Amino acid sequence: MSVPPSTPHDDLPLLARARASMPGGVSSPVRAFGAVQGDPPFVVRGEGAQLFDRSGKRYVDLVGSWGPLILGHAHPAVVEAVQRTAADGLSFGATCEAEVELAEAILRRFPFADRVRFTSSGTEAVMSALRLARGATGRDRVVKFEGCYHGHFDALLVKGGSGLATFGTPSSGGVPEAFTALTEVLPLDDEAAASALFADKGSEIACVVIEPMPANAGLLEQRQAFLEHLRSLCDEHGALLLFDEVISGFRVAPGGMTERSGIRPDLVTVGKIVGGGMPVGAFMGSENVMELLAPNGPVYHAGTLSGNPLAMAAGRATLAQLDEPGVYATLEARGARLEQGWRASLDKHGLPAGIARVGSVLWLSLQPGPPPRAFHLVGEDGPRIYSRLHPAMLERGLWMAPSAYEVAFVSTAHSEADIDEAIAAFDAALGAVLTEAPA
Ligand SMILES: *Cc1c(COP(=O)(O)O)cnc(C)c1O
Repeated sequence: MSVPPSTPHDDLPLLARARASMPGGVSSPVRAFGAVQGDPPFVVRGEGAQLFDRSGKRYVDLVGSWGPLILGHAHPAVVEAVQRTAADGLSFGATCEAEVELAEAILRRFPFADRVRFTSSGTEAVMSALRLARGATGRDRVVKFEGCYHGHFDALLVKGGSGLATFGTPSSGGVPEAFTALTEVLPLDDEAAASALFADKGSEIACVVIEPMPANAGLLEQRQAFLEHLRSLCDEHGALLLFDEVISGFRVAPGGMTERSGIRPDLVTVGKIVGGGMPVGAFMGSENVMELLAPNGPVYHAGTLSGNPLAMAAGRATLAQLDEPGVYATLEARGARLEQGWRASLDKHGLPAGIARVGSVLWLSLQPGPPPRAFHLVGEDGPRIYSRLHPAMLERGLWMAPSAYEVAFVSTAHSEADIDEAIAAFDAALGAVLTEAPA
């Protein structure tokens, strides 16, 4: 497949060129469509709730770049802010005004926090927050939950087994077991397992990290009592509680799950929406913890492009739009409309399945019974159906994530008509898949 530089590239279809030049033809693995039938189209343009591929085909988009695009594609205010900023230079490696303004806009929404530090991705935000938690407590052990994703850095790239606390074994090649030996993996939705782990190792635990709204292995909605239990365990044993709100921050409420739950975490990580489509992450906490960061304290974190004016301008413009009255009510209403439509379609076709939804985040739980709250309860039939459902939806103009474990995101750009189109396309696709012979 190797392409000599002199070959005129027009001779090779773009997908073949992508696969010849990049592993899997992608820069992030799920984009390769490995878990669904069909090949990934190349997107050339987005506008509001719509995407257009190279052939000119139009889709209603429920991926939203995997979460960031709460305003839809190419929102005029965000595009204008980026264009205006870019004309004055892309990066200075010095603190800029937009950075201060975005920091203030974040802290207004997360009043528990006094300081925020910017990164260029969600991964970096969680990785650095974890280092800070270890630095602040002088402890080494960290706790995560099965089915929660916190980015692709070594320490948390652990899935672990189901059931009780599992000793951390890496779920990626290239991660030494020694690097994850200090990572404990617990099942979600299980107070007893968390209590047992703390009874055993509580004095060694620096930090409990959780997606308070787990949305990377389906949407595994947690009970308020479970999150409160984690808060009490951390308090009792002197550990820090880290809410990873890279998806839920600014999405389910201005202050994310921190606001919705009313629980006070010690650290919060955000990403995705905070960059409005540009690469941004951030972590925040109280003054006494955050001031342990370099240059004021001993815990190192840095970034050449962190806080760059372009990314800050996009984030600031995005959060400003979310300040408009009624935005979250609209997101809730559109999400509810989509849920109702999909539910009616599942009922009509007699597929035993549920829909999990928090505001504008939805997940098709393609298995009988209510949507599960823990990863080991997510069955394998869903992904099998979804692998055939996905191309049928795509064909009918509905752009959904190419994995049964990914959620759908509704944006403020989705009109009722866009939602109805997504419902109709889903219904037609489901009908087609259920009547054809299984592949
Ligand atoms: C996406 C995500 C991350 C990683 O963010 P990147 O910007 O992809 O590095 C971390 N935590 C959660 C909860 C996420 O959804």
